[in-house]
Amino acid sequence: MAAILGGGLGGLSTGYYLLKNNITNNSNLKLFLVEATDYCGGWIKSIKTRDYIFEQGPRTIRPRGITGLNTLNMLQDLGLSEHISFIKPDHPAARNRMIYVNNTLYSLPSSLKGVFQKNEPFSKPLIYAALNDLKQPQKELKDDSIYNFVERRFGKEIADYAISPMICGICAGDAKEISVKFLMKTLFEYEQSYGGVVKGVMKSMFKPKNEETLELGELAKRAQEEKWNIYTIKGGLDTFPFVMKQYLKDNNVDIHLNTKVEEIEFIDSSMVQLKKSNGETMSASHVYSSVPSHILAKLISKQHPQLSQLLSETPFVTVGIVNLYFATEKPLIEPAFGFLVPPIENSPILGVVFDSCCIPDQNGTVLTVMLGGRWFNEKFGSDVTKDRLLEIAVKEIKSILKIEDKVTAYNVGILDKCIPQYIIGHYDRVDRIRDYIQNKNLPISLVGSSYDGVGINDVIYSAKTQVEKDVTK
Ligand SMILES: Cc1cc2nc3c(=O)[nH]c(=O)nc-3n(C[C@H](O)[C@H](O)[C@H](O)COP(=O)(O)OP(=O)(O)OC[C@H]3O[C@@H](n4cnc5c(N)ncnc54)[C@H](O)[C@@H]3O)c2cc1C
Repeated sequence: MAAILGGGLGGLSTGYYLLKNNITNNSNLKLFLVEATDYCGGWIKSIKTRDYIFEQGPRTIRPRGITGLNTLNMLQDLGLSEHISFIKPDHPAARNRMIYVNNTLYSLPSSLKGVFQKNEPFSKPLIYAALNDLKQPQKELKDDSIYNFVERRFGKEIADYAISPMICGICAGDAKEISVKFLMKTLFEYEQSYGGVVKGVMKSMFKPKNEETLELGELAKRAQEEKWNIYTIKGGLDTFPFVMKQYLKDNNVDIHLNTKVEEIEFIDSSMVQLKKSNGETMSASHVYSSVPSHILAKLISKQHPQLSQLLSETPFVTVGIVNLYFATEKPLIEPAFGFLVPPIENSPILGVVFDSCCIPDQNGTVLTVMLGGRWFNEKFGSDVTKDRLLEIAVKEIKSILKIEDKVTAYNVGILDKCIPQYIIGHYDRVDRIRDYIQNKNLPISLVGSSYDGVGINDVIYSAKTQVEKDVTK
C-alpha cells in the first residue's frame, strides 16, 4: 500500500503514473491519497459563470519540450483532447507580450527580425547582446543568480527589462536571487565550459545531441506540427484535476479529503505512518509527498531535524490575485497576452494577464492582476485586506490601461506561500535532500513544485520520473 500526500496536481499525477505502472508491470500496488482540504487540484481553481471564467491560480500551459509534450500525452489519455483551447504563433496572445516601463507599455520583439531592430525601452537592437557576450570574459562559478548571469553576458538592460519581468511572470520572484539554473542551465554551462554563450552554442552545434525522447500521442504531435504557443482547457483549467481525480477514483484509489497529516513517522525502510490531526494514523509501505517542502519540513522534523532544515531552506512567496470582469460589448484592451512590470519600476503589481484574449468563451473583458510575490510583505504588510488589494489593482488598471469602466464582477485571492523560489544553490540542496533520503533508506519520494520545476509541466514530469525511479529500484 502506497500513500500519496497532497491532492494538488503533483499528488494526482503521482497517482496517475502509479496506476499506469500497475498496468504496465502487471502489479497491484494499492494506493490512497490524503488531502487536507475538501478539494483536489491545489492552486488550480476556476470560477465559472455564463459570461466569464476567473482562473485563481494557473491559467495556461506551454506545449513545448519533453515536459510539455508529456502533459499533452496525459491529457489525451484522460480523454481531454477535445477540451483543449490552443493559441497558434500568429495569435495576438502569442505575438504580443508587453512590459510596462516609465509609464509606457512596450511590446517585446516576437520574431527574429525584431532582434535586429531597436525596440524601446532597449537602447540598442537585441543582437548587440550577443556581441556583449563574445567580449565578456568567463567567470568560473558553481551557481549564480539569473540576473547576474544575464547582466554579465548580455548587459544590464536585458537583465532589467527582459529577464527580471520574466522571472516575475514565472515565479513571482526576484531575478537577483533566483538560480541561473532555473531557466538557463544550458547557457550557464556554455559559459562555464566554453567561456561564453555564443561560443557554447557554436561548439554544441557540432556535438551529438543526447536528448531524452518520448513517444508522442496524436495530441502532442498535433501541437508540434501546428506550433502551439500556449493552451488552456475550455470551461476552466480545474477540469484537469477534476478528471484526474475521477480517474484515480475509478481505479480504486482511496481519496481521503479533509484529512490533514500532522506528522510523518518512518518505522523502517518499508513502513511509514501518517498521523492525522485527530490522532489516528494511516500506514503505508511508501509515501509520495507532494505537499510544499516547508510543510513537509514540519511533518518530519521530530525524527529527521537535519532533513527538515534542508527542506525549510526553500523560500516561498505570497501572491495577490485580482480577477476583474467588465461586461462590455467591445474589448477594453488591445489584443495581447498581457504585460509584466520589471521590479526596477517599483510597482505594487507584478503584471496583468489579458484573460479575455487567451481564454475562450468570455463575454466581455477579463483581466487578472498579479500583486506582491517576492515583494508582498514589503509592499502590503502581513495583514493587508482583499479590499485593499482590489483598490490597488483597479487603480493601476485605470492608470496603465486607461480603463474607466466600472468593474462588473471581481474575485480577490491572497495565495499564501504559493510559489517556491529556486534561489542560488537550490539544485544542490535538492540533491542533498534526496541523498539523505537514500542514505537513510527512508520510504519517501518527493514530488510537487518544490523540487524539480515550478510549472504544471514540471510537476507532472517530476511525478512520472519519481515513480519510474522507484519502480526500477
Ligand atoms: C498564482 C499562480 C499562477 C500560476 N500560473 C501557472 C501557469 O499559468 N502555468 C503553469 O504551468 N504553472 C503555473 N503555476 C504553477 C502551478 O500552479 C503549480 O506548479 C502546481 O499547481 C503545483 O502543484 P503541487 O501539487 O505541487 O502543489 P499544490 O497545488 O500546492 O498542492 C499541494 C496539496 O497538498 C495539500 N496539503 C498541504 N498540506 C497538507 C497536509 N498536511 N496534509 C494533507 N494535504 C496537504 C494542499 O491542500 C494541496 O492541495 C501557478 C501557480 C500559482 C500559485
